[in-house]
Amino acid sequence: MHAIANNQFARVTVPRASQGDDPLLRLQQETEEDRPRIRFTTHPDPITITGITVMCPACAARRDWMVICDVPGRVFLRCRCAHQWHEPELTRADFDAMIGDPDRKYPSLEAAARHTGHDGTLAGTYLTGDFDIGE
Ligand SMILES: [Zn+2]
Repeated sequence: MHAIANNQFARVTVPRASQGDDPLLRLQQETEEDRPRIRFTTHPDPITITGITVMCPACAARRDWMVICDVPGRVFLRCRCAHQWHEPELTRADFDAMIGDPDRKYPSLEAAARHTGHDGTLAGTYLTGDFDIGE
């Protein structure tokens, strides 16, 4: 086993003059606060719809989902193998019941997928209990 490099989450640095008072940046932030956003949460447990446990059609996983609710209220499921699909049996109410930490925010869905391990790098990897990988 090789150690994970500490710099794998290295930030992209963009040279920017007068960062503190950029009207365009400020406008963007204000707009993002007001606009209805795509919301998502992670769901480590199996999801059962009408008695049937949801299974990823790509890798046959049955848990560790990322659940995404778009602005019109459609619910998508995303697997650790990065396969994502619309799940018409799930509604916004189902999503609201599943959401764990509504304060958790990411700049984008892709950032969230990376952070929560749903970008494919953990495909087939299942963490036991919590996020303590050990080793
Ligand atoms: Zn999968």
